[in-house]
Parts: sequence; structure tokens; C-alpha cells
Amino acid sequence: MKAPRIRRLKLNEIYVRTLPLPVHVKAFTVPDAQGDYNVYINAALSAEQQQKSLRHERTHIEKDDFDRDEAVSVIEAELK
Ligand SMILES: [Zn+2]
Repeated sequence: MKAPRIRRLKLNEIYVRTLPLPVHVKAFTVPDAQGDYNVYINAALSAEQQQKSLRHERTHIEKDDFDRDEAVSVIEAELK
């Protein structure tokens, strides 16, 4: 019998790091092979902007946007 699919969100970790990024990049998320999520936030943003960007990235994680085939512009438009 095939095991039921377990949603990654329930099991996996979100690691958040700030680092220098190009000025036009606020943040991005990279799912890794273990199913954890690495969120990278531009260190040049204000604390408030960093929190806002983290919330944005967490929404992508909650929506499981990383396995989707739609264009990035479509996925981003849903979060506006
Ligand atoms: Zn986004």
C-alpha cells in the first residue's frame, strides 16, 4: 500500500539568514533536498522591510509555491 503524502510544511524547518544581495532583490527562498526551506533576506533592508519580506516568503512556503509550474509573475501577483 502506498504511503499517504505528508505535507512538507508540517515537518520541515525554515532557516532565515540575512546577507548582502543586489539592491533589487528583497528576499528569496530555496527549498533544499531535505525539504527544509532556506530564506535569504537582503541585509540592506530596514528591520521593518526585513520582517515584511519574511512574511512574504513564509506565505510562499505556506502556499507550497515551489512545486508550481506557473510563471513567477503569476505566483507573485497572487501575493499582492
Ligand atoms: Zn514572492
